[in-house]
Amino acid sequence: MRYISTRGTAPVLTFEQAMLTGLARDGGLYVPETIPTLDHDTIAGFAGQSYEDVAYAVMRPFIGDTFSDNQFRELIANAYAGFGHAARAPLVQLAPNHFLLELFHGPTLAFKDFAMQLIGQMFEAALGRSGDRVTIVGATSGDTGSAAIEAFRGLDAVDVIILYPHGRVSEVQRRQMTTPTESNVHAIAVDGDFDDCQAMVKDMFNDFQFREDVRLAGVNSINWGRVLAQVVYYFTAAVSLGAPQREVSFTVPTGNFGDIFAGYIAKRMGLPIRDLVVATNTNDILHRTLETGAYTKGTVTPTISPSMDIQVSSNFERALFYAYGQDGAAVADQMADLKQGGFTVSQGAIDALRDSYLSGRASEQDTSDAITTYVQEHGELLCPHSAVGVHVAQHHLGTTPMVTLATAHPAKFPAAVERATGIHPPLPPRMADLYDRDERITRAANDLSAIQQIIKDRIAS
Ligand SMILES: *Cc1c(COP(=O)(O)O)cnc(C)c1O
Repeated sequence: MRYISTRGTAPVLTFEQAMLTGLARDGGLYVPETIPTLDHDTIAGFAGQSYEDVAYAVMRPFIGDTFSDNQFRELIANAYAGFGHAARAPLVQLAPNHFLLELFHGPTLAFKDFAMQLIGQMFEAALGRSGDRVTIVGATSGDTGSAAIEAFRGLDAVDVIILYPHGRVSEVQRRQMTTPTESNVHAIAVDGDFDDCQAMVKDMFNDFQFREDVRLAGVNSINWGRVLAQVVYYFTAAVSLGAPQREVSFTVPTGNFGDIFAGYIAKRMGLPIRDLVVATNTNDILHRTLETGAYTKGTVTPTISPSMDIQVSSNFERALFYAYGQDGAAVADQMADLKQGGFTVSQGAIDALRDSYLSGRASEQDTSDAITTYVQEHGELLCPHSAVGVHVAQHHLGTTPMVTLATAHPAKFPAAVERATGIHPPLPPRMADLYDRDERITRAANDLSAIQQIIKDRIAS
């Protein structure tokens, strides 16, 4: 399996190279040259299998000869061993024909653990073989950073530097990033918003000298390995509800378009997904684009679902690539216009996007109301991101079973949950001492060269 860039001019890479590289040299994102399919009987055979077995079967066609079959099985087993639920991604029922896929049983209580724990294992295995050392730099609106630090802490071949927007992550998220004591992990609080952090990470990747000097690697949601790991739970959930004999729909709270794009891949692989519904908070660039065809940057408004406070959606480029019939030059043109503030998707491409994705948006009030209603009438305490999903999903319920992705545990966002319900969601026992641990915080200006200097100093020490 070979990987090509969405902008068409970067070198073609193997799975291992694409995973270790992150962003392509032409500024694009790596995607597989072809999307493998699983036949009806193979998918039907997933019924009753463990999460790990399905994960192996779904991901194996994408990894080429990066790992042997046995090693890949072992990496998957290690990745999910630390989860607090034997099913890994259990499905619970919310209402007639509406289900919640709980993706928050990993070590940092958000769905990002599914991808990050596996990426940690795969990086360690690949780098251990080559003897190389890399610096992972990532931007986070809270959950990616905590998941990355948790997945890479203490590994020999990797330094991890995470930029997060100062004052805009929840206390649990911050503490998960600032309390690990291993010397290879560093959290930096930037005076800016998430888009500023993400833009600086992109600039570092485009600074080839710096990229070589620190041997930069990325694990943000642009990393193909992350998207791939997220494809798996669409299969396990749909099969539990009767796929492939029966169609299933999904609603996905998303900002960077990573999680929902994984659903698109699952569908292309042959999983009978009917609707894929994008659910946004008031930072609704994805919803607006699908409605109007115009992708224009707005300003980020802080919400109670901060992990989706995003106005530049990096994985949307992958969706565009397929909507433009895999025309890298067309994608490169649009992305050049984005530097000027926005672009309009062509008629053919917007039609293709609307064929693939539906969308909806939840206001702050809608989100908070959904948290209140779902604990009172459905017995389910939702985190604000999951509540955005559930609110939007309600407008798309019908005869096809709907699965809403619950992307974080309510205890990760206790303030918003408590305001809506009066209930203070407790942390699971395995992390109950989080509030007592000491924090290490580095504050930095929203300035690329200053942050590059901090990174060089940190990895030298
Ligand atoms: C990251 C995150 C999201 C958004 O995921 P995308 O990668 O933007 O699809 C939603 N909810 C939570 C809790 C998250 O951490």
